[in-house]
Amino acid sequence: MDGPRSDRSERRAARMRNRPAVLVVDDEAQTVTAVKHLLRRKYNVLGATRAAEALDMLDASEVPVAAVLCDMRMPEMTGDQFFREVLQRHPKVVRILITAYANLETLATSINDGQIFAYVAKPFTAEQLERVVETAVTYREMVDANERMTREVTAANDLLTRKNEELQAYTHVVAHDLKEPLRTIAAYTRFLREECGDRLGGEGHRFLDGITRCSGHMSRLVEDLLQFSRLDHEKLDQHPVELRYVLEAAAELVSGSIDATGGSVTLPDAPPVVVGDVDRLIVLFQNLLSNALKFNRQPNPQVEVRCALDGEVIRVEVEDNGIGIAEEQHDRIFHIFERLNPRADFPGTGAGLAIVRKIVELHGGRISVDSVPGSGSTFRLTLPAHQ
Ligand code: ADP
Repeated sequence: MDGPRSDRSERRAARMRNRPAVLVVDDEAQTVTAVKHLLRRKYNVLGATRAAEALDMLDASEVPVAAVLCDMRMPEMTGDQFFREVLQRHPKVVRILITAYANLETLATSINDGQIFAYVAKPFTAEQLERVVETAVTYREMVDANERMTREVTAANDLLTRKNEELQAYTHVVAHDLKEPLRTIAAYTRFLREECGDRLGGEGHRFLDGITRCSGHMSRLVEDLLQFSRLDHEKLDQHPVELRYVLEAAAELVSGSIDATGGSVTLPDAPPVVVGDVDRLIVLFQNLLSNALKFNRQPNPQVEVRCALDGEVIRVEVEDNGIGIAEEQHDRIFHIFERLNPRADFPGTGAGLAIVRKIVELHGGRISVDSVPGSGSTFRLTLPAHQ
């Protein structure tokens, strides 16, 4: 019988210990006693009849005091002086003013200087007092919970940033280190073909072709991964640049595809001036234009680039009449190495749009796609405009 009862009393003692603490300050001892009596069930109530004693209690209290209730008129220190002092020493303690006289000016001073949370007029009923204290303590609990959550989110964010940096560094090192063995494989394959080609026969040559094809693809993957990870390591070199120059340079770089497909690329008449890293911007549009020509089964692929100035940003659209993209894939295509079509149909590594998105975001912009399978795609992006 002893066990359960002592468990219960221990639990009750723990509950009592964990009650929020409130402090009541009034030069009339009987008011302190009355308030303590009223609030004792829900709170650990501390009491003081002098302001200095109350401040010492706040400084020394082991349990943080959630709220302090103080009379306006006290000897030594007035209520608003006391609240100012509390605000300075313990800003999180919620301050409640109890007063019998409603002098507007003194009230205003307390509210403005002592930043009091609530005001209780004397005489008050038990319910009035309980309601005010409960609201104040809940407010304090919310402030504490908010601070705790902010701390946790900041710590989680810091951890994420650190892990991300580690991952970026790791990706960079892995991609960089893979280049060397890949070069060696390519060199040995070449030697084998040159030195022993006549002894290999048809099947041997097919195997060598397979090795060359695969190591070539792996080289492109590694190069793209390096290009992608370099974007995190190297700072942008941003200046005002004629968007016309960027678009023409990108179109020039895909001129081979334009000729091969019989397609056409239409550029805007008078594009605005963008603020950006010219080399990166050319890479961005080169990728978009080359995709627009590549993922296209029309006899003459049509690509149109449009621009419009919208406040501080330039809105750019790259529209094609290609194969289109199913809506559920619109996010996926911007992830590195994600591809929707077999390589035999459309060659590529799947890094282009991840690089594009990173360049856009490094410039503070956003990118999205609007597309219906069979009806072409429109890539929309924003870039900072030169003001
Ligand atoms: P890659 O071109 O090397 O395949 P990207 O990252 O540039 O890789 O594109 C990812 C995938 O998004 C492509 O494999 C393709 O399936 C799809 N895609 C990109 N651009 C277009 C486009 N203009 N029209 C249709 N599909 C596209």
